[in-house]
Amino acid sequence: MEEKDKRVLRETEQEAKQLEPSPEERERIGREVLDHVNGFLEKLPEQKAYYSDQGSGEGIEEHPPDSAPLSLKEALRILDKEVDTPGLNAASGGHMGYVPGGGVPMSGYGDLLAAIANRYAGVYFASPGAVRMERTLVKWMARMIGYPSHAGGNLSSGGSIANLTGIVTAREHHKIRAVEIPDTVIYASPHMHHCLDKAFRIAGLQEAVRREVPLDEYHRMRAEALEEMIRRDKEAGLNPWIIVASAGTTDTGAVDPLEKIGSIAQEYGTWFHCDAAYGGFFMLTEEGKKALRGIEEADSLVLDPHKGLFLPYGSGAILVRDQEKLHQAFTYEANYMKDAKDPDGILSPAEISPELTKHFRGLRMWLPLKVHGLAPFKACSREKLYLARYFYEEVSRIPGIEVGPAPDLSIVIFRVVQEGRDPNEATEQLNTRLRQEGRIFFSSTTLDGEVWLRAAILSFRTHKDTVDLGLERIAFHLQASPERPEL
Ligand SMILES: *Cc1c(COP(=O)(O)O)cnc(C)c1O
Repeated sequence: MEEKDKRVLRETEQEAKQLEPSPEERERIGREVLDHVNGFLEKLPEQKAYYSDQGSGEGIEEHPPDSAPLSLKEALRILDKEVDTPGLNAASGGHMGYVPGGGVPMSGYGDLLAAIANRYAGVYFASPGAVRMERTLVKWMARMIGYPSHAGGNLSSGGSIANLTGIVTAREHHKIRAVEIPDTVIYASPHMHHCLDKAFRIAGLQEAVRREVPLDEYHRMRAEALEEMIRRDKEAGLNPWIIVASAGTTDTGAVDPLEKIGSIAQEYGTWFHCDAAYGGFFMLTEEGKKALRGIEEADSLVLDPHKGLFLPYGSGAILVRDQEKLHQAFTYEANYMKDAKDPDGILSPAEISPELTKHFRGLRMWLPLKVHGLAPFKACSREKLYLARYFYEEVSRIPGIEVGPAPDLSIVIFRVVQEGRDPNEATEQLNTRLRQEGRIFFSSTTLDGEVWLRAAILSFRTHKDTVDLGLERIAFHLQASPERPEL
């Protein structure tokens, strides 16, 4: 090598080494990061659930990677102002819109540990421990559901990818070829989550026949109507391929009649996919087990630990009653991976999911479950069911409020019905006022042309005092509405 090339090596090495902080720097960085974390958690109880008046994070755009570097302190200050403040405060217990996420701090420490060691969790050969940890978590969830021991699954980034994985597994198992798609039938509730529409499209099944199964007054799929549709389709020579049921819809939290759907699926040889992204972890409670009876009949099932297990975003799960079906759908061959084939007969996540390299998701789930133990998670889950019952009873007492059906799980729908006012407009107005104030965040939906507000109670930081504040603010803004439009 020539002298000038050697010089390049020396210089680049010198500069590259800045990526590894010295022990003193680590000390300082750790302190600054933890101070920031603790500061965030300390001020959280006083923070609102929604900020519409704190800008829209535009300041972050002044700091692209190719602009001047920042000190860590400065970077954290920008993070606080531009990212952690504007918009929906998902860490707040006052977040009762959409489906709240979690963010138990122990999970964050798990992420830190996972990222520092950076174990390769996609392949058993590379990190048998990380893969076994994920397997242990999947098997625990499978036991919680009531699945047999040959069930398997995978930790995904969220419910959408988990649903897609389930749909592809069902497609592969039923060997649906392109020419057969127009004769292939999908049965689902009109309240099926939209990510499943996406999943069917991504999986190339957009041209399959879609049947919307009618709902009963509790917004649950009507099993008899479903069976009748399947019977007719079969007679007509179509292929009744898959039933998508929800163990808690996003709209109203309704649980489809899973037990009956399971029997129908079995009788007609139809795949039963259960989207339990919102409701699945209520299986940790006796009340939830009752509400979700029959869930174990599903061939494939989606859970969202970042919802019902109170983890931070980025944690979904797909479970399949027979792991081999998942394996068949996602198995691969690659010359350059030949020395990475499961030495102990343990399947790698890469062989049962669309991902190869993946975030070591197991640790953010395993650490909090092991360090806190299961008991507080179960209690938190049960608390949410009772908070929803409480909210339902109390909100129905507020004059001018009409409630939907009693909650199956932890979502309550309600709307404004007042003399001389259009209920949709009045409900929208209440929503806007609550949102401008931002102390409690609800979201709205439209059911058969009617606007409803949803209280989705699932944050681990939502307790009775949070719900009481929500009730008080609803009553306040409702009273304020016709006479005091300035509010
Ligand atoms: C949240 C949710 C999804 C989508 O999951 P993501 O984690 O947001 O991708 C799917 N189905 C239901 C019922 C949900 O509540």
